[in-house]
Amino acid sequence: MANPSVIQGKMLINGQLVDSVSGDTFESTNPATEELIGIVPKATVDDVAIATDAAKAAQREWAKTDMGHRIKVLTQFAAALEARTDEIADLEVRDTGNTIKPMRQDVITAADRIRLYAGLGYELKGETIPATSSGLHITVREPYGVVGRIIPFNHPIGFAASRLAPALVAGNSILIKPPEQSPLSACILAELCQEYFPPGLVNILTGEGATGDAIVRHPDIKRIAFIGSVPTGMRIQHSAAEVGVKSVSLELGGKNPLIACPDADPDVVATAAVRGMNFAWQGQSCGSTSRILLHESLHDAVVERMVAKLKALKIGNPLDPNIDMGPMNSKRQYERVMSLIAAAKAEGAQCLVGGGRPQGAGFEKGYWVEPTLFSGVNTSMGIAQTEVFGPVVSIFKWSNIGEAIEMANAIEYGLTASIFTHDFETAMHLSRAVNVGYVWINGTNTHFRNVPYGGFKNSGIGREEGLDELLSYTELKAINWTPGVSSAAGSAWRQSND
Ligand code: NAP
Repeated sequence: MANPSVIQGKMLINGQLVDSVSGDTFESTNPATEELIGIVPKATVDDVAIATDAAKAAQREWAKTDMGHRIKVLTQFAAALEARTDEIADLEVRDTGNTIKPMRQDVITAADRIRLYAGLGYELKGETIPATSSGLHITVREPYGVVGRIIPFNHPIGFAASRLAPALVAGNSILIKPPEQSPLSACILAELCQEYFPPGLVNILTGEGATGDAIVRHPDIKRIAFIGSVPTGMRIQHSAAEVGVKSVSLELGGKNPLIACPDADPDVVATAAVRGMNFAWQGQSCGSTSRILLHESLHDAVVERMVAKLKALKIGNPLDPNIDMGPMNSKRQYERVMSLIAAAKAEGAQCLVGGGRPQGAGFEKGYWVEPTLFSGVNTSMGIAQTEVFGPVVSIFKWSNIGEAIEMANAIEYGLTASIFTHDFETAMHLSRAVNVGYVWINGTNTHFRNVPYGGFKNSGIGREEGLDELLSYTELKAINWTPGVSSAAGSAWRQSND
């Protein structure tokens, strides 16, 4: 008999909460305890095909609705999502290992972003272009049709719930694929979407990499929006191109530098560096500060302060609001981080804090890693080049600004950078010189509303958040009208055939 405390999740396809056609399922465990907490359907190519057919039909009707209607539906949906914040956040913590306060905030922020996109709806404007004196030349923004959305494990509900909004506002329907490691909050999202959206408009398919691949390869899904790792992003570009010409946007990994100049305050830098590491989700964030590039005059003072701060972090049950850091998301992620730590030690990086698994009561099971700081790192080491996606930071030392820029850019990634200086010209010089998509001057890691986010180099292509993301779900159509060739008979014919 099924264990009643284990969630039996369902997918949402064509307005129905369903199992996979094959009946296949997979399990989700709590990374703090390794206990089974949910069983969800494993969607196959057949489920993707059924969902896509439903999404095509739903999209045709949705695209005919007025913007006012879309705004109303999304605003109601945002309120319903927010009303279930505590329930969703509690489940998200047990499924991801992320700590409770920011997971509550993830739901609230998702609702906020949905309202933001509802508000931006009327910005889906075209242009009037004076190309010739007599004709009319306009552009209009058309939806792609069916959009595929693939989600990583670090903020499952935050990404899945908020990112459906721009696609829908622009008149598309959507298939969402939540992460295999943390699929459970998507089952609550499925219930909410069933209640608020017409059947087929939003489809949520739990599954594995193959499910995502089936979405990418479906010929009727022309727009793929992906958040995840660089290797998967590269694979997706390739698979999409095997099927057709698709719009693929990729929000990928980062190995983000914080550059501290000689005039920066060591206390401020150390506090910002630790904040930027995102311990509330164990450093598992694309935008996490992971390379601290210190001017030699600040080096010792900042390192000393960072060491003290990292040692003071409280690790434990992520449902406890007083805890700073929980376990890694999965066994796979735990093993990956541990192997990168071992490799850094073997390469000669100096481990000043952590570097292992916390010991004692409460840590017998689960995927725990200590906050870890390496100093004496140089750009040729693996720990300087590979995204750890964990609670690990590396310290570098520089003596002139050219060296700092070279270090910051000596990497395949280009997502974010933080710069600490009081000198405006230095700040602007560094901001322009770093090859990244998002720069904070005297700050780290805050996603300000309505500001585009995304990476240079292998950190991605396209921008999410703000108006850019909304526009990315539209294709621009140019229309030219030549006067004098339409007639009343033509108009009647169109209306009777529409
Ligand atoms: P991942 O392994 O690349 O997986 C991401 C998603 O892609 C998952 O849903 C995964 O499914 C799916 N997937 C796997 N193989 C696929 C394929 N061949 N075709 C289509 N989909 C496929 O990434 P992750 O480990 O979940 O997330 C961590 C990464 O995401 C880090 O690199 C991080 O930096 C990046 N990230 C970037 C941003 C940003 O905004 N730039 C934000 C957050 C995270 P399964 O889970 O079922 O395998």
